[in-house]
Amino acid sequence: MLKIHQFPCLSDNYGFLIHDPDSGETAAIDTPDGAEYLKQAKAMGWQITQIWNTHWHPDHAGGNKAIVEATGATIIAPQEVDKLSPIDRVVSHGDEVTIGAHTAHVIDVGGHTNGHIAYHLPDSGVAFVGDSVFALGCGRMFEGEPRQFWNSLQRIKGLPPETMLYCAHEYTSANAKFALHADPENRALQDYAEEIAAKRARDETTVPTQLERELATNPFLRADDPALAQKWGGSAPHETFAALRAGKDNF
Ligand SMILES: [Zn+2]
Repeated sequence: MLKIHQFPCLSDNYGFLIHDPDSGETAAIDTPDGAEYLKQAKAMGWQITQIWNTHWHPDHAGGNKAIVEATGATIIAPQEVDKLSPIDRVVSHGDEVTIGAHTAHVIDVGGHTNGHIAYHLPDSGVAFVGDSVFALGCGRMFEGEPRQFWNSLQRIKGLPPETMLYCAHEYTSANAKFALHADPENRALQDYAEEIAAKRARDETTVPTQLERELATNPFLRADDPALAQKWGGSAPHETFAALRAGKDNF
């Protein structure tokens, strides 16, 4: 069994280390803060051997250099990360990466940035999704376009519903406010929003989140739902998605 260690990083990022006890390998999922990752790995008694980046933003790959200098870890990343650090292995949709005997499938989730990827580990039932999808939200569309982003979300929707999504930020309270505005009649969403408010009041994390729950409540994954299409317009799901994304940007 892979072990996953999650910790807060920078102002609202989450850091993730995954560790395979059999091989002794440890992968850093993104590197918001190199020093914090090294400190957390040390506290766990783990040595970082790999870095798996999801996209090139500095709060995801800015710690690569510091970690490689300290550990000699191998960087696995989409091509765009070369803006920040050299890459040992460039990966894209359909590639597989391994930690010990565990395999992760690389999925194209471009839209927040071009070249954004997610890592899905089917035998552990988890996916590291970076800034593509959040609990009740999705990333801002900085580089991509709506059809591309919607297609990316379709790939996430196609994962097994029990998959736990490890998103890279604690944005859930703000996302819940917009989700309730976007889809006010959704009872499952109302219940989820109440749970989130209670968790945040206790300073608890809302990450990871289960895909099955997001499918029922996350407006960005539900742009093909007739009720959302009617409220937000768009004759195709990617148009409804675009209206929702613009609505959130201006909310
Ligand atoms: Zn980002």
